[in-house]
Amino acid sequence: MRVVTVIGNRPQFVKAAAVSRLLRAEHEEVLVHTGQHYDDELSAVFFSELGIPRPDRELRLGTGTNAEQTARMLAALAPLLGELAPDLVLVYGDTNSTLAGGLAAAQDGFPVAHVEAGMRSFDRRMPEEVNRVLTDHLSSLLLCSSSVAIDNLAREGVTAPVELVGDVMVDVALLVQPRAREDIKPLEAAGVAPGEYLLVTAHRAGNVDDPARLERLVALLETLPAQVVLPLHPRTRARLEETGLLARLEAASHVVLLPPVGYLEFTALLVHARAMLTDSGGVQKEAYLAGIPCVTLRDTTEWVETVDAGWNTLVDLDPDAALTALEGRVPDERPELYGDGQAGERVVAALARFSV
Ligand code: UDP
Repeated sequence: MRVVTVIGNRPQFVKAAAVSRLLRAEHEEVLVHTGQHYDDELSAVFFSELGIPRPDRELRLGTGTNAEQTARMLAALAPLLGELAPDLVLVYGDTNSTLAGGLAAAQDGFPVAHVEAGMRSFDRRMPEEVNRVLTDHLSSLLLCSSSVAIDNLAREGVTAPVELVGDVMVDVALLVQPRAREDIKPLEAAGVAPGEYLLVTAHRAGNVDDPARLERLVALLETLPAQVVLPLHPRTRARLEETGLLARLEAASHVVLLPPVGYLEFTALLVHARAMLTDSGGVQKEAYLAGIPCVTLRDTTEWVETVDAGWNTLVDLDPDAALTALEGRVPDERPELYGDGQAGERVVAALARFSV
C-alpha cells in the first residue's frame, strides 16, 4: 500500500509521530509537508525531537489568509497526488492542510483517511470546525478518537466506514510525559518552580486577530494569581506587536514570555504546572493526560469529554471565571477518555484493511 500523508503544522507533526514509523514498517509512505508552519520553532524541532521521518516533499505554502493558503495547497497537491498515485491519502485534524489534502485527493478519486474524524466544537465561526466538517464528509475512512466523535458522524449521516482507534496524540504524550516529569531544566530556564506557575498558550484566530478580544486576553493574563509561563506563538506575537499590547505583557512582572518551545520542553513545563490555560485543542487533551487542570480560553471545545470529566473548564476570556476555575478542586477520578496509547497501531491496521 502506498500512502501519501499530508501534514503542515505543529499539532500534525505530533500526530504523524505516532503513525509514520509504524506505517513505514510495512507500507510505503510519502510524507508531504505543505509548509503551513515552516519556521524551525514550529516545524523542524518536532521532526528531530519526535523522530518523524524527513518530509519527502516540502511545498512551502505557509503564508497568507486561510483562503489563499488552502487555494495554493490545492493547486500544488492535485498534480503531486496525480504523480504519486497513492492507494490512500492520510490527513490529520482540522487545519488548512487537512482540508486541502483531503479535497485534492477526493476530487481526483483517491480515497481519504481522516484521523481525528468526528470532533466537533459546533462553532462554525472557527475555521478549524469548517475544515473538520468538510474533511469528514469527503473522507472514505473515518478514524475517531472517542465514541462522542462516532456519534457526531452518525448524526451527520456519514455513511463511509467509521472506526474507533483512540487518539494518536495520546500515544506520544504517554511516551514523553514520564520522561518530562524527571526534567526540570525548562522550569529552571524560565525561573519557575514545580507546581507554582500557570502554563499558558493562546493563538486561536478568534482570540488574537480581533484587537478587542486580544486586549481581554492580555487583561486576563494580568490578573492571574501566580507566575505565568507563556510560550508565544508567532501569530500571537505578531498581533501583540501590531496592537502595542506586547509592552503590557512585558511590563507584567509575573509573566515569563518565551518563544514557542519544542515538544519535550513544552511537555516538561506542562507536567510540572499548577494548571494549564489554553485555547489550543491538543493541549487540553495533553493536560488531562498529565493530570493537570485545564482552563480553556474559549466558550466551546471539541474535547468535551475533558469538561464532562471535571478536569477542563471553559471560561472564554472572562477573568473572574478563570480565577474561580483555578480555585476549584480537581476530581479524584481521571478515566481513560481517548484510548490506551496504541492508536497509531490501530490507524495502520485500519488503513491496511481498507486498502485490500
Ligand atoms: N506545543 C509545543 N510547544 C509550544 C506549544 C505547544 O510543543 O510552545 C505542542 C503541544 O504539546 C501540542 C501541540 O503543540 O502537542 C499543539 O499545537 P497547537 O496548540 O499549535 O495546535 P492545536 O492543538 O490548537 O490545533
